[in-house]
Amino acid sequence: MRIACPHCGDRGLDEFVFLGDARVTRPMADAAEPADAFHAYGYLRMNPAGPTDELWFHAAGCHAWLVVTRDTRTHVIASVRLARDVALELRAVASTTEDASA
Ligand SMILES: [Zn+2]
Repeated sequence: MRIACPHCGDRGLDEFVFLGDARVTRPMADAAEPADAFHAYGYLRMNPAGPTDELWFHAAGCHAWLVVTRDTRTHVIASVRLARDVALELRAVASTTEDASA
């Protein structure tokens, strides 16, 4: 499997470190059931068959954090984005949602 880093181009898998599901978000400390929320955050993961967003680190390259959308059945990569850009997109969507609800 090869990953096309946005900074470095097409590189072999041995240059990257897999960090897990990119959609997991840290719960707030004031969550309703904080122990349950942090247990789920730390230990509970889905095992999807199909397209999923994964967090990868380009350890032997530019040290960028990447969100790789990969089909777990075929290993075909649909997209590779910088994790920073994905986080900014999610923040923009969240602020738009907050503005609409206020
Ligand atoms: Zn890179």
